[in-house]
Amino acid sequence: MHLFCHDHHAPVEGLCRPCDELLGYALRRLDICPFQEEKPACNRCEVHCYSAKQRERVKAVMRYAGPRMLLRHPLLALRHLLDKRRPIPKLIARAKRG
Ligand SMILES: [Zn+2]
Repeated sequence: MHLFCHDHHAPVEGLCRPCDELLGYALRRLDICPFQEEKPACNRCEVHCYSAKQRERVKAVMRYAGPRMLLRHPLLALRHLLDKRRPIPKLIARAKRG
């Protein structure tokens, strides 16, 4: 988010207001994500918890920041790539178990 905002909106510091709000939205979604630690990468998840509008905005940020993250934050990027390789948890199976 910071990479995207810095290069697109050039805020004086931190994030510009719309990006800060989008980040807040994403973090609230994470808070109520039923998978928590088992959460798959969002683009492979069967639960589409973002509104269509926010989803498009986040996708634009991911598309931009994805390749750049490999250079700037290789460990974080690696963790995300590993998340993408994990099997996708099924919500219904989990509900039965729990
Ligand atoms: Zn911004």
